[in-house]
Amino acid sequence: MDILVINCGSSSLKYQVLNSDTEEVLAKGICERIGISGVLKYTPKGGETEVSELDMPTHTEAVKYVLDALTNEKTGVLKSLDQIDAVGHRIVHGGEHFSEATLITEDVIKAVEDCNDLAPLHNPANIIGIRACQAVMPNVPMVGIFDTAFHATMPKKAFLYGIPYEYYEKDKLRRYGFHGTSHSFVSKRAAELIGKPYDQCKTVVCHLGNGASICAVENGKSIDTSMGLSPLEGLIMGTRSGDIDPSVIQYIANHYNKTLDEVVEILNKKSGVDGLSGVSSDFRDITKEMEEGNERAKAAMDAYCYRVAKYVGSYITAMHGVDVVVFTAGIGENNSYVRRYVMEYFDFMGVKEDKEANSVMHIGEDTKMTTDDSKIPFYVIPTDEELSICRQTVEVLKNA
Ligand code: AMP
Repeated sequence: MDILVINCGSSSLKYQVLNSDTEEVLAKGICERIGISGVLKYTPKGGETEVSELDMPTHTEAVKYVLDALTNEKTGVLKSLDQIDAVGHRIVHGGEHFSEATLITEDVIKAVEDCNDLAPLHNPANIIGIRACQAVMPNVPMVGIFDTAFHATMPKKAFLYGIPYEYYEKDKLRRYGFHGTSHSFVSKRAAELIGKPYDQCKTVVCHLGNGASICAVENGKSIDTSMGLSPLEGLIMGTRSGDIDPSVIQYIANHYNKTLDEVVEILNKKSGVDGLSGVSSDFRDITKEMEEGNERAKAAMDAYCYRVAKYVGSYITAMHGVDVVVFTAGIGENNSYVRRYVMEYFDFMGVKEDKEANSVMHIGEDTKMTTDDSKIPFYVIPTDEELSICRQTVEVLKNA
């Protein structure tokens, strides 16, 4: 089957077409600056990336341009739209409604809308993307894949905040977690690599990208994860603060005459290693500056790595042990300094870095970062959220 995978942001739309039998990517790309000016990037399999500036007032036009690119006579990879068997939509927040991928119906869209307050930037964009696809492909089945769904198995002790219980009961204020598609994909692969059944495996997954979260996966289920009600909680990220004392918010608001929304914007967009270092949110820049002696870049890197190590340690405790630890996403897959820093914290447990494996780039490859006599293996496993969405879409259709 040919599956179109759609990932809508507030002003962007990422897409891929995959053949679910061969798991080959037939084409991929992104529409950017939707509502502003509009840029379509399109890369067919084995071909050059085409960049076109197009008028894109809404996501509906963006979807139309994507479909035109996919079916155009010269570089299109589909003969006609009839070739698309289903569309898999990434949806950020499913609240407590969804614990698995679901065929999209009007009731499902209504339930996603109910979660808009929990993810005001993301969910409305996801719904616009679904509506735009329905408008041009009314007879094609659509499947929703939720970032939060994998964490629906978290026990209450892990998802409750220590605030008055009625906020949970009435408003559903609780920890949800994100990056579920990636944590699920990578933890399954880790079990295969260490040769243990997934439902008997204890795995800590470190998804370290521009957004970053850690997940404890015990016997195939997420039992805790570092992001919370929103993606702001947990690790220090590219531009997000991660965990802070809420009194910091009060202090900044009072002393700098800022509204709550403005402070939250600072915590989301101007904090993290970007705010700490004053250099950039990009770990390539931070690493380079640190190596050239920039003290703030070093302080940002240390704070970042230290928090990753603390979370890994706490999740090993949460599972009463661990079989494998995995690094994934842009930083996890590419930054050997971060991996080394984290692995060194576990020397007391007999973790031994394989210095050569960790120093060499292994683009797109699953690679063990520890020596054979290390008590716990640490791996790099490249994440592939689009492939995971494609697989889940096919699964939902099979069971529909
Ligand atoms: P993601 O959100 O998964 O795309 O990850 C983005 C982050 O990965 C950025 O901070 C990048 O600096 C980092 N990253 C991507 N490629 C590399 C690389 N080759 N070396 C070091 N960091 C990288």
